[in-house]
Amino acid sequence: MRVIIAGSGPSGMVVARTLAGRGHEVVVLEKREVPGGKVSAWRDADGDWVESGLHVFFGAYHTLLGFLGEHGLGDTFNWKPAEMIFASERHGMAGISFVPWLPTPLNGLAGVLKFTPLTLGDKLRMGLGLLRPIFGDQSYVDQQDDQSYAAWHLRHGMGQRSLDEVMHTMALALNFQRADKVSAKLALTAMLHFAHEKNAPKMALVKGSPDTNIWRPLIGQIEGLGGQVLLGRRVASMLYDEPANELRGFVLDDGSVIQGDAYVSAMPVHSLRKVLPDALRQFDYFDNLKHLKGSPVITMQLFFDRQIAGVDNLLFSAGTHLSVYADMAMVAPEYHNGGQSIMQFVVAPAEKLIGMPDDELVRFVMDEFTRLHPVAREATLLKHTIVRIPNSVYQALPGVDQYRPDQASPVRNLFLAGDYTRQHFLASIEGATISGKLCVERIESAVARGDLAAAAATA
Ligand SMILES: Cc1cc2nc3c(=O)[nH]c(=O)nc-3n(C[C@H](O)[C@H](O)[C@H](O)COP(=O)(O)OP(=O)(O)OC[C@H]3O[C@@H](n4cnc5c(N)ncnc54)[C@H](O)[C@@H]3O)c2cc1C
Repeated sequence: MRVIIAGSGPSGMVVARTLAGRGHEVVVLEKREVPGGKVSAWRDADGDWVESGLHVFFGAYHTLLGFLGEHGLGDTFNWKPAEMIFASERHGMAGISFVPWLPTPLNGLAGVLKFTPLTLGDKLRMGLGLLRPIFGDQSYVDQQDDQSYAAWHLRHGMGQRSLDEVMHTMALALNFQRADKVSAKLALTAMLHFAHEKNAPKMALVKGSPDTNIWRPLIGQIEGLGGQVLLGRRVASMLYDEPANELRGFVLDDGSVIQGDAYVSAMPVHSLRKVLPDALRQFDYFDNLKHLKGSPVITMQLFFDRQIAGVDNLLFSAGTHLSVYADMAMVAPEYHNGGQSIMQFVVAPAEKLIGMPDDELVRFVMDEFTRLHPVAREATLLKHTIVRIPNSVYQALPGVDQYRPDQASPVRNLFLAGDYTRQHFLASIEGATISGKLCVERIESAVARGDLAAAAATA
């Protein structure tokens, strides 16, 4: 079977590598010149790596870690202790450390008890309020999708301070929006994993660039199995045969048509909507995609002439737009550069910042950063890089979860993969990996039913 996959982000690469390994011919069409989607990296004119985002991998990412391990890439990460370090102007740096020798959920609750920005009363209220997700299950969490996390938090008596000092930051890190915007389901899903699995909060970063450590090796394997990953090839539209209810090809922007027995959209939801034929909008399945809108976010790297934060782990910040950041020269061994810092920031919420000119944006980030780390005022900023992503992961707003589509579409030979599709994890690299695996299952079920053989015969 020949499968055409649009998009080389994590979900598309999982579909391609898995199907290639099972003897299918795969062709990946990627519109950009670099693979990896929102987890991509490329070199700038000086040869320095520019990353599309700061990418954190958790111990809870079983599907992704299993996938990479199966393909000889299990040694890709630099693991950090399970600790969330918060930087704030008022409190300096303070951490929630998961205590390794305690069982779940006591390991996390003990960490909260030692977190100095909260009062004892806040901690007790938080401990009591979190009992519900700690002893709840995914079905309880799913039912909380009708309200914002902030509403859920306050309704459970946990108070404003823990929202301001911890949970807004967590929501920003997960979905690039504050806790009063995102659905309670989002934050509770993360907490459920942390409360039930000892290794879930362990965090890792790629040892260096995801391009050389993950995507190029996977492309090599796919090509070794006879597949193709074609970069700089944008899918512009889909050829849909309405009477047969099947796709006849992906049309590229140079007008060429790429045909196969099955087609996978592993594009982000906003890109898929742009290329969907009008005839498909009659299906609620496709029409409902309009409810899934991307979150804007900015990734900025600031190169300094000296070490600034001195922390070999991620940093979260409360009350700024620097939701998560890290010194890449410390956390990723392949980026070490003789004692200088490469501070990489996930800047969110970004609605009001994304249109700012570069110089203004750098000043804005520098202002917030130097308030958190005054030592940065003495350092020389050598250069910066900025990546603006107006539509990143889908906005996990209250009530939106119901519109996430299954990987099997109503069109016989069209399948979807992507973090926004229906899977039990968040919009994340793990979620994208799970969606890729589910997509492969749906394709194989269609083969077993004989649906794809029929499409192949008429293609
Ligand atoms: C700044 C930032 C930080 C993040 N941090 C984390 C993190 O720490 N941990 C975590 O788990 N997740 C993180 N994420 C989320 C994670 O990157 C995404 O969930 C994941 O990349 C989604 O994978 P995907 O395959 O669904 O889509 P994508 O990665 O978006 O890949 C889709 C691909 O489709 C391509 N495409 C689009 N249109 C077309 C077209 N017309 N033709 C051909 N190709 C097309 C795109 O160029 C892209 O390569 C972060 C995201 C961002 C933006």
